[in-house]
Amino acid sequence: MNFDLTKLLRPHIAELQPYTSARDEYTGKIGVFLDANENPYGSITDQDYNRYPDPYQQELKEKISEIKKVDPSQIFLGNGSDEAIDLLFRAFCNPGKDNVILLPPTYGMYEVSASINDIETRKVALTSDFQLQPEKIIGATDEHSKIIFVCSPNNPSGNKLKREEIRFLLKNFNGVVVVDEAYIDFNDEPSFTTELEEFPNLLVIQTFSKAWGLASLRLGMAFGSKEIIRILNRIKPPYNISGLTQETVLRAMDNYGKVQKMIREILSEREFLKEKLGQLPFIQHIFPSHANFLLVKMPHATEVYNELIEQKVIVRNRSKVLLCEDCLRISVGTRSENEAFIQALKKVASKTV
Ligand SMILES: *Cc1c(COP(=O)(O)O)cnc(C)c1O
Repeated sequence: MNFDLTKLLRPHIAELQPYTSARDEYTGKIGVFLDANENPYGSITDQDYNRYPDPYQQELKEKISEIKKVDPSQIFLGNGSDEAIDLLFRAFCNPGKDNVILLPPTYGMYEVSASINDIETRKVALTSDFQLQPEKIIGATDEHSKIIFVCSPNNPSGNKLKREEIRFLLKNFNGVVVVDEAYIDFNDEPSFTTELEEFPNLLVIQTFSKAWGLASLRLGMAFGSKEIIRILNRIKPPYNISGLTQETVLRAMDNYGKVQKMIREILSEREFLKEKLGQLPFIQHIFPSHANFLLVKMPHATEVYNELIEQKVIVRNRSKVLLCEDCLRISVGTRSENEAFIQALKKVASKTV
């Protein structure tokens, strides 16, 4: 591998003078703060939100560092992991010139973010059992290929990708390989963060939106080399993580035990759903899942989907997506939600299938 980060970077980003906030220059907590045009009296709410938050989220990163075993200097926090994805395009991809590699069926935001940034996407489909085609992927790259987006466990298929094949991409591609681990907490394998030492071109993405149950707060994580993380920090909006989010998640992390308990329950409910779906004769296939959802194939999936909505049961219709023809993606709910779904599905199927 011949990975050169400075060559990969867009030239104007290399020369960028980042915004310096007042709080970059004085980091003490005590003082007379007349630098940021804040309201000195407090907030109109019960709690005080009148001061700008820490732009680099130091305290939060130290706590995350303990749980994830990654040095704070190798952690980037975004307003959802979607922000990290967008910043990667802005840092590395020259509009109208560079390209990225997508591996469908996969998470939709990579494509949306590429389009917003006017970046070509080259697609190399997964195999019929949703694994990588590593040689073909490398074959699709050229000198303008900047990023390969790998999602494992994959959304919407739910399976994990073979570790050795992801490592093959890391070894044979001179751009950034993003490994999106939004569903890592439901998986039984170690995170790719354990491979950051070995691969300077690796960026691992995780989120508080799924297992942690904090989707509404919008907090995503990216783990990578110090150099890549420094670049993301230079181009992010200065106060991208609100003070409320920083405080709430900091406190939430003392409750790691509760997260682990919820994960166990979700996994056990996933098995319940699988078993119930398996008993329905019209279900053609339930794909193996290492995530908190199941991809399920059935005849007339779109009609079933529409009828489910009539019953006020909302699932995700993936039947127009490559390799997911006639498939619905079902998030694992609570026991009563899962029972309501199965009930509605039986009712709907007697009409449509
Ligand atoms: C849900 C999801 C995310 C999370 O996005 P946030 O912006 O952090 O909520 C990221 N990647 C994949 C593949 C997802 O399914």
